Amino acid sequence: MTAIGVMGGTFDPIHFGHLRAAEEVLQGFGLERVIFVPAGRPPHKLHSEVTSPEHRYTMAKLATVDHLRFEVSPIEIQREGPSYTLDTLRELRDSVCKGKTLYFITGLDAILEIHTWKGYKQLFELANFIAVTRPGYSVEVFLTLEKVLGPECFSKVHPFPVTLLAIASRDIRRRVREGESIRYLVPEPVRLYIEEHGLYSGRADETR
Ligand code: NAP
Repeated sequence: MTAIGVMGGTFDPIHFGHLRAAEEVLQGFGLERVIFVPAGRPPHKLHSEVTSPEHRYTMAKLATVDHLRFEVSPIEIQREGPSYTLDTLRELRDSVCKGKTLYFITGLDAILEIHTWKGYKQLFELANFIAVTRPGYSVEVFLTLEKVLGPECFSKVHPFPVTLLAIASRDIRRRVREGESIRYLVPEPVRLYIEEHGLYSGRADETR
């Protein structure tokens, strides 16, 4: 097996929707492993409040520790400045993923904006893209990408319907803020970490 998945996301926090999506992509595309890459400073969220990269990285580690073919890379949280996917894919290609085919995995909503990402045409020289979607997603919306990207780049984007994506990080943050339970939405060690560090409840150590 020579293909590796790179699961990019803010993961604020990581939840079972992300994990299940990674599991289905791992199997569906016959990948060797999936490397989760929590965004350090998401370039499109520089002005919004995002939980510190260290907390999001630790939660991703806690969530994946029991899976032999899931890994978490600190590559973006260690790099200064905005976390551009282009830099991440280049770095991975030249290090732990040398000689392997790369599949960058993320949500369809994020992929629909890919033409606004730094050096987007070069992205397609480095990797294929898997846009994970909820079953019943709008094919029409996906097809609009072909016009924007052109046929060559578009052929490297694969929509992939997965189960369980009704869980959303935003909803988890809201539940914590409003004192609701998040049990069974995130792995238990992640839930305990959120509780222990007072994340999403408005306490000060939450954001950078
Ligand atoms: P986002 O806008 O927060 O998320 C868009 C949607 O996709 C949300 O519904 C989100 O659900 C879902 N999603 C995000 N990551 C997912 C994943 N790995 N698997 C399944 N669903 C996922 O997107 P984001 O997380 O900030 O960014 C996604 C990736 O694109 C990151 O790696 C980011 O660095 C990259 N990106 C790069 C650039 C650039 O290079 N200029 C610009 C934008 C994004 P949840 O909220 O539940 O996760």
